[in-house]
Amino acid sequence: MKRERAHGLERWALVPGAVWAWACLAAPAAAQEFPRGPGFYFNPYHLGVFLAAYLLWVQLCNFVDRDAQNLQLSRTPWNPLMVGLGAAGLLALWLVPNFWLGLPLFLVPFVAVFVLYARWRNEEVPKEERILTPQHWRKLAAKYLRLRFREEEKSSGPKYPIRFIGKSFDEKNEDIDRVKRVQESKGYKGALEMVYEAIQRRATDIHLEPTKDEMMVRLRIDGILVNADPFRRAMGDAVINIFKVLCNLDISEKRKPQDGSFSAQVEDRFVDFRVATAGSVQGEKMVIRILDKSAQLISLTQLGMKDRMRDQVRNIVIQPHGMFIVCGPTGAGKSTTLYAALNELDRYSTNIITVENPVEYKLDNITQIEVNPKAGKTFAGELRSILRQDPDVIMIGEIRDQETAEIACQAAQTGHMVFSTLHANDTVTALGRLLDLGVQPFMISSAISAILGQRLVRILCPECKVKYKPDPALLARANLPADKIKYFYRPPEEGERTEVCRHCGGTGYYKRTGIFELFVITDKIREMIRENPDLAAIKAEAMRNGMRPLAEDGLRQVIEGVTSINELLRVAK
Ligand SMILES: [Zn+2]
Repeated sequence: MKRERAHGLERWALVPGAVWAWACLAAPAAAQEFPRGPGFYFNPYHLGVFLAAYLLWVQLCNFVDRDAQNLQLSRTPWNPLMVGLGAAGLLALWLVPNFWLGLPLFLVPFVAVFVLYARWRNEEVPKEERILTPQHWRKLAAKYLRLRFREEEKSSGPKYPIRFIGKSFDEKNEDIDRVKRVQESKGYKGALEMVYEAIQRRATDIHLEPTKDEMMVRLRIDGILVNADPFRRAMGDAVINIFKVLCNLDISEKRKPQDGSFSAQVEDRFVDFRVATAGSVQGEKMVIRILDKSAQLISLTQLGMKDRMRDQVRNIVIQPHGMFIVCGPTGAGKSTTLYAALNELDRYSTNIITVENPVEYKLDNITQIEVNPKAGKTFAGELRSILRQDPDVIMIGEIRDQETAEIACQAAQTGHMVFSTLHANDTVTALGRLLDLGVQPFMISSAISAILGQRLVRILCPECKVKYKPDPALLARANLPADKIKYFYRPPEEGERTEVCRHCGGTGYYKRTGIFELFVITDKIREMIRENPDLAAIKAEAMRNGMRPLAEDGLRQVIEGVTSINELLRVAK
């Protein structure tokens, strides 16, 4: 682009160069009469050096002209000086018999003018825009030689658009003293930078783990822990202290587990952090969970559900009563799905109350209550009290004890729609888990509408995924038609790419999508649960009704090139 905007200056600057080159080449012909003596006067080294010097002159002339214009500075006397002195230098170079004596006559004047110009224009611009400064050279080196000078850049780098707030989630007012205390302490900048980086990289958790000399920093991104830049040990301990002060924890206690929370303003939104610390052999470690409640709420379709299943789920959740359970291991995206399901409802004409630990998204027109077992606010206790507030829909963050399970079932039977999650590997196991909690089979059978099993698989990075022919034996084992499936995709292997992919940071994946298994409770299955809860027989009946196992839905994503077979095997073990 820059080249196209030549101001004519470059073009006419070429004229003396052409004349000189012509003179060089014409010299052999005129050699007999020329004062330099006889011989073929054409030296490729001289010509190369001359061309480099000549191009430098043209470039600098062009830079001065354009730079002065951009900065709205006067272009005189700089343009005439740069061009005139250079042209005079060319003439001198041609006249002086010795090339190495002539060259400085050409170079020195215009380079000197350029340096003078640089000093003059540097006076007029902000610090970061100055040229020929150490920072400027470093920037050029980083750009052209891919060199990094992280430490120096940090000290003069921009401030991070993040501010800590000494306020726990359930507190109304900010504790300014806490923030003041941390602002003055060592490691404050490092802590800000680390949290900002984690948010920029879409991390859900930050792990600070001490080793002998370092404080390791690991970020959970798309469900996988990846290493970030570590702190020196002393700095890392200072950073941990900062978070403990922000959470109002006892900073002298470094062994017993403690937990707390604080908030931060990041750009124009607020983010909550849950902090847990505990002593280890190497020292105190910390896990910070990031709750970005302003994150975009997603719909059932965006979760990766097929249209048919989405319609089925929608029909179930809009029923006036019943129970919809999402199951999967920790980090399978269960609560995101529940929020998406809540989002299907008309939040203006129905009374929706949630009991959560913690509140992960903030929803408009919904009453969200956070349980706090330490303060005696349990799921069961909160549920009892909200049932008195005449809700239509209740969302229970998780069912993990008999009492909560029973209240949930009772609510579902008495005209409420109940949403909840269960920690179980698949849908039929989740049913077994409810029975194991000690809930009577007849209560379960009349309460439950459907159970959705799910996992999150990482999506292959569109920028660097690699196409390959799958092994026909593998396809045969998975019951897939080898003639129809041409390619699978996978992340690049080590050494396959010359540089790290900018889009995914070299992990080969970017963001995640869901794979699902929907178990709809039919009348036949209700009967089976009530009479003889034989899970194998119930599963067989569910499959007859069209339930497709989780892995099969995952295979669809592999066939469509969304994820890799290895990723599917990792999550659907
Ligand atoms: Zn990539």
